[in-house]
Amino acid sequence: MERLYIRNLDKQYTRGVKALSGVNLQIPNGMFGLLGPNGAGKSTLMRTIATLQQPDGGEILFDGTDILKDPQAMRRQLGYLPQDFGVYPKVSAQDLLEHLAVLKGILEPKERREQVLALLQQTNLYSARKQAVSTFSGGMRQRFGIAQALLGNPQLIIADEPTAGLDPEERNRFHDLLSEIGEQVVVILSTHIVEDVRDLCPQMAVLAGGKIILQGRPSTLTASL
Ligand code: ADP
Ligand code: ADP
Repeated sequence: MERLYIRNLDKQYTRGVKALSGVNLQIPNGMFGLLGPNGAGKSTLMRTIATLQQPDGGEILFDGTDILKDPQAMRRQLGYLPQDFGVYPKVSAQDLLEHLAVLKGILEPKERREQVLALLQQTNLYSARKQAVSTFSGGMRQRFGIAQALLGNPQLIIADEPTAGLDPEERNRFHDLLSEIGEQVVVILSTHIVEDVRDLCPQMAVLAGGKIILQGRPSTLTASL
């Protein structure tokens, strides 16, 4: 059952190359890998789906809603996991999550607290919940990134190069956590690392020069990469 339809997406930066050129994708529930070298257009595509920037043309439907026409509808359903969780303030992990939960519109204090504590447990950060995020290791920061992305039970999670800078052990733990997020939501994993996609994603596409050049199962595609 496809939930995300991307049709004919185009984007040209004012003083640059064509970052996206006639991109078509149909994405079902579960992990979907978007593989491509640096400069392929992955971030542009991820940011466009996340309604952080506008394409020049094309259409994006999520559960039938045109998200370019109604970006608010998408934002309520979206979890965004950036390359590096850029904010390392001195407040504790728990307080920061509670604050981000307010921004996501989770206004009822009891519900918010329960959700935050459950996410801290799920991401194995419960015992570190009183520590400042600025003191976290790379792996802990990435797990914190997952916790904040899961606030509000999003239906679509966008992970933009999430394993960049992790050591192999951290990467494995991160993979386990991502697989647990479940099959009931769409998770798009953008990466230039073949193994991330091969180990995690039942479906994938390869983006190069702004175009989808391959789409299918990693088991059949990665042999040719
Ligand atoms: P990736 O995430 O795969 O590395 P990007 O989407 O970041 O690819 O970039 C695709 C292309 O668009 C690259 O050639 C990049 O230099 C260019 N690009 C990205 N962002 C901008 C921007 N804000 N202005 C101009 N060119 C950009
Ligand atoms: P960059 O070019 O470094 O990727 P961006 O302009 O994409 O920077 O975003 C800056 C930061 O804002 C991101 O690293 C991320 O932490 C945060 N951010 C952007 N969009 C969202 C979003 N939809 N939800 C949560 N955080 C976001």
